[in-house]
Amino acid sequence: MRCLGTSISLQEVPGEISLIFQITNCPHRCPGCHSKELWTNTGDELTENLYRSLLLPYEEFISTVVFFGGEWDSELIRFLQIAKEKKLKTCLFTGADHVSDEIRHELTFLKTGPYKEELGGLDSLSTNQRFWDLEKNILLNHAFIKNNITQTHNTQGEMNVETNEGASC
Ligand code: SF4
Repeated sequence: MRCLGTSISLQEVPGEISLIFQITNCPHRCPGCHSKELWTNTGDELTENLYRSLLLPYEEFISTVVFFGGEWDSELIRFLQIAKEKKLKTCLFTGADHVSDEIRHELTFLKTGPYKEELGGLDSLSTNQRFWDLEKNILLNHAFIKNNITQTHNTQGEMNVETNEGASC
């Protein structure tokens, strides 16, 4: 699997400080996708060594590791297990409506459903997407708000700060 970059966010998982891995080669092709840079097979190959090196500077102060995509690659399960070994929570954002039981077993949180522009994302009351706390078996859609600040980094560690109005993913 390839990773376009990482970001630190307070928005993607309610109540959690998240380190997000943006995985490319997304097969879902949602009309209205705001993240088309994730459609092609670009970015750095996310080896276990690179993954661990990207986690290391943040693992003491983040609470959750989030994957934007990657459920199509068997390596995802190992990466989720590594996060759990470090006592971190885990989350997957997928455009699919379902993921395998093997992946669910390694997740604390799961966002499902393709982005449909006419229904909106997680901050929309009409959305088709669902955000689950799998450990508590509760739906958390109500907890999403707009306009949190996000720090973004590429895999070389360069940082930007930007306003995030909610990912379409
Ligand atoms: S919204 Fe997310 S799942 Fe859908 S095409 Fe874009 S990156 Fe893929």
